[in-house]
Parts: sequence; C-alpha cells; structure tokens
Amino acid sequence: MQALVKRARGPGNLELRDIPVPQMAPDEVLIRVRACGICGSDLKIQDDQHPYTPPVVIGHEFAGQIVKVGGDVKGWAKGDRVVSEQHTHACGHCRQCLTGNAFACASKRSPGYFTDGAFAEFIKIPAWLLHRIPDNLSFVEAALSEPAAVAAHGVLDRTGIGPEDVVLVLGCGPIGLVAAKMAQAEGAAKVIVTGIDRDEEVRLPKARELGIDHAVNVMRADLAALVEDLTRGEGADVVIELSGAPPAITQAFQLARRLGRVGIIGQPPTDEVAIPYREALFRALTVSFSYSSKYTSWERVLSLFERGAIRPAQFISHVLPLDEWERGFDLSRSGEAVKVVLELE
Ligand SMILES: [Zn+2]
Ligand SMILES: [Zn+2]
Repeated sequence: MQALVKRARGPGNLELRDIPVPQMAPDEVLIRVRACGICGSDLKIQDDQHPYTPPVVIGHEFAGQIVKVGGDVKGWAKGDRVVSEQHTHACGHCRQCLTGNAFACASKRSPGYFTDGAFAEFIKIPAWLLHRIPDNLSFVEAALSEPAAVAAHGVLDRTGIGPEDVVLVLGCGPIGLVAAKMAQAEGAAKVIVTGIDRDEEVRLPKARELGIDHAVNVMRADLAALVEDLTRGEGADVVIELSGAPPAITQAFQLARRLGRVGIIGQPPTDEVAIPYREALFRALTVSFSYSSKYTSWERVLSLFERGAIRPAQFISHVLPLDEWERGFDLSRSGEAVKVVLELE
C-alpha cells in the first residue's frame, strides 16, 4: 500500500512509499483510510522537532471504513464508518486508564508518531478506541474530529465554559477556531479570537465568517484594551491559550478576571515560559493544562458535528489527494490554509 513514511531522523526524510498492509491483532480492526488531516505536529515531524520513532507512517487525524474485524472484537462490523482515539498501546490497568484518561497512560504509543499512522491506504486500530461517524458527515468532514476533540478536551472537559462567559481564545489555527466556535455553542456571551499578521489573509477573516464576535490581530490592535472594554475592566471569564507563543501565554494569565479560568493547550517551543505567578495567585486563577483527548471529548465533538452546532466543512480549506501531500504541507505551514485534508479514493 501507499504510505507517507518518515524514514529516519533529521529534517525532511519524508516520502510516499509502498509498504505492506498492517497485520492486525485479534482485538483490532483494519481500517481503509478515506481522509486524513494535516496537523501542526506532522509539520514538526517533517522538521524533526517533535518526538517520533522512525521509520513510521505519519498522520493521525483520520476517518475511514472498517474492512476487517479481529476475532475478539465485538460491536463493530465490516463497512462501519469510524474515527478513532489515539491511545494505542495504553495499558488498560493503570490509574489513568481505569479513570477514563488513557490519553495520559505512560505506555501509550500514538499512531503517526510511535506506531504507523494514517497517511496510508490502511491502518490497524484497537477496537476500544473507535467512534462511529454520524451518517450526515462525510469522511473528509469526520477527519476534523481529532483536532476538534483536542479542543473539546481542553475547553469543555478540563476548563469549562459557563453561560454568558466572555471567552478569549489566543491563536486562530484550526484548533483555535474550533475552540472559539465551541465556546459559542456552549453559551458564551462573547468570544474573542486572536491572530498575528500572517493570519490577516485567511484565518482572521475565517473567524469573522464563522461569526466569532471579535477577531483581533494582536500586532495591530490593543487586545488588553478590548478585553477591558468588553468586561467593564474585569477581565475575561475564560482564556484559552492555543498559540503556544510565550508572550501570549504570559498574557493569558494577565487577561483573565479575578477567579477566572485559564486553559492551556498550545505547545510552546521551550520548557520554561514566564508567567506572572504572584498575579495569578492573588487573582485566584484556576489553570488547566491539557493535551490529547478522551472518550467524552470525542462523543461531544461528534454530537456537535451531527447537530450542526459546529460544521466541520467550514474549517477545511483544502482537500488534496495523498500524492499531493507536499503541497498540503506547504499550504498548512504558510498559513494560507485553515485545515488541509488529504483524501484517499
Ligand atoms: Zn493533530
Ligand atoms: Zn494505562
């Protein structure tokens, strides 16, 4: 089968190759991949700036159809349309696994990083990780489930949005835009999303098209003044950090109101980032760090998609065949795209 393989460490070393179809275990299903989105972490693997184990097929934001079911699998059949959580090799018996938090299991080895992923004709997945795609979603639309589940985990499961909250989302990449829309769907009074100069062309206009109340270029406008204006000087009820930019992380703590909530999802390039620690302490902020996603995040996303509260097609700017992956990666990198999805016939 055709697969996009990261051959070896170092920048580049990424190519379409013909490799064998995966051999599945009795508790797994074999899925014919129909669509797989390009993620920021795929670009980082291309650049050798994210952990992975080569040689490995990359890609993890996938949707497909079951073609073969392992002997121990119950409840799934050939032809079922599915998306999947990413917690392959989670042990199933540690505290994290037993409390529904397999995303944090120390044994987890996610597809697309440490085991073969989904920029390929087929992928094998343990059946307990699957979720059914609602009938009114295409495979391409369903490929947005994984990044949206990351947003749902950080915004809904871990931080929480209350009725009439003023929500500030820092960063307008695909997850930032989905997070902003999710906050609206959850009953926020006002949602502000931020970007920088390179977002002026596509992503900030997209935020406006999505009906986000305020889409702000922080290099041209005074974000703190806007938040003050919108909240009678109190600060935002909730700040969601999705840019990963250290100055924005600092600002996340400054723009939340007293007893406000800060959700951190964006991944900064360095381990240490300056935060106003005493200020955060004496404003009694609640801070939730978050990565990956869990069962409830996926179920919430698929429900939001099914009832049209979030329409995944609005976030997908380009659909390309697998063999145009290079163009897809370039479009994602430049900010000319919102989400690029590679489609397999
Ligand atoms: Zn991703
Ligand atoms: Zn475990």
